[in-house]
Amino acid sequence: MRFTVAIDGPAAAGKGTISRVLAQRFGFAHLDTGLLYRAVGRRVMAGEDALVAARSLTAADLAGPGLRDPEVAQAASRVAVIPEVRAALVDFQRAFARSEGGAVLDGRDIGTVICPGAEVKLFVTASAEVRARRRFDEERVAGHEVSFDAVLDDVRSRDARDMNRADAPLRPAEDAIVIDTSEMSVDEAVAEAVRLVEARR
Ligand code: C5P
Repeated sequence: MRFTVAIDGPAAAGKGTISRVLAQRFGFAHLDTGLLYRAVGRRVMAGEDALVAARSLTAADLAGPGLRDPEVAQAASRVAVIPEVRAALVDFQRAFARSEGGAVLDGRDIGTVICPGAEVKLFVTASAEVRARRRFDEERVAGHEVSFDAVLDDVRSRDARDMNRADAPLRPAEDAIVIDTSEMSVDEAVAEAVRLVEARR
């Protein structure tokens, strides 16, 4: 069975949580495509050329320390504006999307560029303040000293870069269903996504 769920949206909107639950519930393979860009960003921070890094990513690049750090996220969004970097990552993502048994991919351009034919397309979003608040709470729980304003600035600058780039900007596909999680609990957002997938199966 081939069945692709494309989930796009800005940072900290809830894409990751929804994707993980869908994958577990329906037995789909899951790819967090942000990890690919983060892995390239981390190698660039270590001095490598972005395109060389994008063309030679291995499974080992998708794990290891620092991948979730805010500096790596910013580096990811800087390499993500380079069309050749994006192009180098397309084939892997498309092959993954056709995994036997179904797949869920989350990112910024899955429904628009990577899998325009996906059976289900969701655009998960929330206000910048709500997303920054979630990130801030996560950082505090993890014991990191951060200010709310710094987290909000980080969210806004990444949104601006992701939405305004020329190649594959962040936006909902025309046929995507938008889930605004600003006023929803995690359980409500997940339940909505499960319902939408069930309706298409
Ligand atoms: O989703 P995550 O926050 O890990 O993504 C990090 C950065 O990678 C994003 O801000 C975005 O610039 C880039 N990205 C992208 N296309 C994707 C996934 C991530 O451009 N499909």
